[in-house]
Amino acid sequence: MKYWLGFLLFTLSLQPAWADLQCKDYRGIKVSTIYTTKIADGATARHTRHGHPVILANTNILKGFSSVMTRFVYAHECAHHVLGHLKNKVSNVEFEQEADCWAAQTLVDNQYFDTNDIRKVQLMIRLYGIDDEVHPKPDERARNLMSCLRQTVASRL
Ligand SMILES: [Zn+2]
Repeated sequence: MKYWLGFLLFTLSLQPAWADLQCKDYRGIKVSTIYTTKIADGATARHTRHGHPVILANTNILKGFSSVMTRFVYAHECAHHVLGHLKNKVSNVEFEQEADCWAAQTLVDNQYFDTNDIRKVQLMIRLYGIDDEVHPKPDERARNLMSCLRQTVASRL
């Protein structure tokens, strides 16, 4: 009983920062969130066996994240759906990089983020970023976030 109440309160408190981007995939299909504690990461983009786009969100991990980081994680996973990355079986460094760039640009363009928020995400990536063969190295990933934004601003001039 207590567990469920905590879970409910948590998912409600996560909602504003979690899904305000209203993610749709490359086909225009709305992306749903499935809350779980059964994945290793904070969140991951998947298709259900019926091909419906979903983001699995690990409530145990995300409850420790700030709203800035929660928004970024959601936008990053949304990006994998928007950019059609899941048509491939496995992710790679380029996809992860593209997802980071799309997330940073979209959050700034929609005024959920300012450059200060990007700096907070950079710090979190440097401290806790995943270091594996699929993701760019945390330091490089953090640096790339700001350079994506500079490119967007430059392309508008
Ligand atoms: Zn990713």
